[in-house]
Amino acid sequence: MPIAEQDVKWVQEPKLGLFGQLYLPLVMDGLTTTISHMFQKKVTEQYPEQEPKLPANYRGVHRLNRDHDGHVKCVACYMCATACPAHCIDIVAAPAPVGWTDREKYPETFVIDELRCIYCGMCEEACPVDAIELTTLYDLTGLSREQMIFDKEKLLSVFDMTTKAGTDPVRTQAGKLGPASEAPPQK
Ligand code: SF4
Ligand code: SF4
Repeated sequence: MPIAEQDVKWVQEPKLGLFGQLYLPLVMDGLTTTISHMFQKKVTEQYPEQEPKLPANYRGVHRLNRDHDGHVKCVACYMCATACPAHCIDIVAAPAPVGWTDREKYPETFVIDELRCIYCGMCEEACPVDAIELTTLYDLTGLSREQMIFDKEKLLSVFDMTTKAGTDPVRTQAGKLGPASEAPPQK
């Protein structure tokens, strides 16, 4: 709908004096701002030479945790995939392999599309056995979309890498959560 003529407000260009025409007040304003910032605490960081300090609860790249036997901790309950608002988790459950006595199922495949993920942390919140966690890894790069789709092996390798580096200790501190979160019996 076109704007009615009576709704149009015309603004007159202000008349500048000689001082104003030299732009000296504006130059002084700009210089004052620049000089005042020179003495303030710097907020920029020289990345990548300088690594950012991230809070422990930073939500970066996912990992699948291992249990005490080194198996994937996930029991393929689909809670994370159900809770995920971005629908970027795909799991295929299968009967647990022979010898995995602490569960009925395990994820035969477990895939997260890291490009569709919005890093909300809902999957971590939903998991009853603390099998999936978001780490402080933030520099996620890839040369193709396929490289950004993480399968089970890649998610487990993130667990190995982050626990070895000590950057992301396992956060399974919530007590008894299920068979897969229990310590093995002492021999
Ligand atoms: S962080 Fe959020 S969006 Fe990403 S996989 Fe988990 S639930 Fe889905
Ligand atoms: S919620 Fe946890 S145990 Fe269940 S499928 Fe997801 S990662 Fe596996």
